[in-house]
Order: sequence, then structure tokens, then C-alpha cells
Amino acid sequence: MDIIKLKPVFKQMIWGGNKLREEFSYKVDMDNVGECWGISAHPNGDCTVIGGAYDGKYLSQLYAEHHELFGDIVSDVFPLLTKIIDAKEDLSIQVHPNDEYAKCNEQGSLGKTECWYILDAEPETTIVVGHNAATREDVANMIHNKCWKEFIREIPVKKGDFFQINPGTVHAIKGGTLILETQQNSDITYRVYDYDRLTDGKPRPLHVEKSIDVINAPFCAEDVAGDNEVISDELEKLVGCDYYNVWKLKVNNSTNISLDGEFFLVSVIEGTGYIGGTKLDKGDHFIVPHNYGKMHFDGEMELIISCP
Ligand code: ZN
Repeated sequence: MDIIKLKPVFKQMIWGGNKLREEFSYKVDMDNVGECWGISAHPNGDCTVIGGAYDGKYLSQLYAEHHELFGDIVSDVFPLLTKIIDAKEDLSIQVHPNDEYAKCNEQGSLGKTECWYILDAEPETTIVVGHNAATREDVANMIHNKCWKEFIREIPVKKGDFFQINPGTVHAIKGGTLILETQQNSDITYRVYDYDRLTDGKPRPLHVEKSIDVINAPFCAEDVAGDNEVISDELEKLVGCDYYNVWKLKVNNSTNISLDGEFFLVSVIEGTGYIGGTKLDKGDHFIVPHNYGKMHFDGEMELIISCP
């Protein structure tokens, strides 16, 4: 059985930079490419299979027609989405609802849990994770009174950091940050604050009341820390939650890995090598299907692996 390599979908964003082209050698002609959807079956960016028996098929199609590749996953849609995000400018400050709130208030949509592995951050860069209000009432007051400096929790960030962003967590990456995001396959986002910026002369809409509804208070730093469980010299579990498990694997010469999961989403974030006999380069994204067996890697690489 072979791995399933995918062709990413690129998204131009006003805040996007050029690192995806320059550092990952992706062949994109556009400037300001903010997002690479590396493993996605979302209607806004459905990846296609490169090579093998399913060449050219959309991932959504593969998921619908060849469910045997994905094992015993009970989900109408492909459950996860892996993105690389290159922010040249600050992203608006956001929060996501949980499944329950989204179901009632967003036409039955799923909520969104996501996590970030920091691939790179320029010196002195910070990240917004959490807030400083003690209660939901304080959250409402600080937002209504635009006390952003007091409200927003901003901390230094560096390469290799990891954050679990549960629903209800205020969050944003700032200019100079490159991340790999693993997320639930959903796009419901409430914008809390956009630094009072104007786009075409107008502020982008905010979702103040829905944000206040869903923001958890008080913020708890432990909730965003992930698991940080060192399994071996090569393998580290970054997080396990209701929606996904995420690991980081460092291949030094050669290794065999077997993990618990129905199938796996894999991204090469550094170096080059092989899985089985298939060549891998930095920036490659692929799926290890159900019943593939042990993964055998050769080379010098770093990978992020996830499963639902
Ligand atoms: Zn988010």
C-alpha cells in the first residue's frame, strides 16, 4: 500500500508574505500567499492526489468513494485540515465557538479546535493567546470599552513552540510568524478585534456579541500548553484532544514508527528523505492510509503527524 501525496491549495491574503514560495519551494506565482492548505477536503480548498492509483482525485472524493483508506472514522466529511500559514502582518484577533454553540447558532456547523506548531518566528515576535479578564462580565466590559491593551494577553513566541487553541480561546498570530496549523475541518470564526484597521476604507465586521458569548473566562495557560510528552529521542506527542492527536517526528538516518490511529496526516517541515521508497521533500503533505502498517522513514527530516 502506498502513501497518498497531495497537491496543496494556496490562498492569497492581504496579510500574507512570500515565505511559502521562498522557504518551502512551492511553485506559486502569486505574491502575498498567506495560507497553504496542505491536507484539506474543505469545499473552499479541496486538495488533489498526486500520482498513484488515485491521481487527480479530490481528497473529498477519495474520502467519499474509498472509505476503506480511512478506517473506522465516523464523520460525514474528512475530519481535519492541515495548513501552513505565513503572516507578514498581524492577523485579526479571533475566537471560535465549540460544536454545541456552532450547531445552535451557525446552521448546524461544527465548532473549531485548532493547534499551532511554530515553524519560525522573527526575533521579538509575539503571539496573542488568551486574555486578562477575570470573568465573562469583565470580558464584556473590556471589549465594549475597547480596553485592548489590558484585555489581550500577548506573549513572546519562538520556533518550536506549540499552542492548543480550544474553542473560547482568544487568539491571533502576528506579523513575522510561520506556523503549521492542525484543525477541525470548519471555518466558523468570530472576529473580536482588528486593530481598528481599514480595508478599502472600511473596518472589517466584528462579531462582538458572539465573541463575548463564547470566550472562556478566566483564561487558563495550562489549557493551551498541549501535552509535550517525549515518547523517544525522535518522537514527541504535542497534543491529544477530542478531535486529534499530533506528534512531531525527527528522523535521523532511519526509523520505524507505529502510532495508534485509523490513518495519518503527515507534513514534512524540514529536510528530505523517504517513506518506504517514496521520496519526500520539505513542504510535502501526504496521507498514510488505514492498514499501511509501520511507517519506515529514511533521511534527515522533521515531520508533523496527526490523526483524528
Ligand atoms: Zn483560529
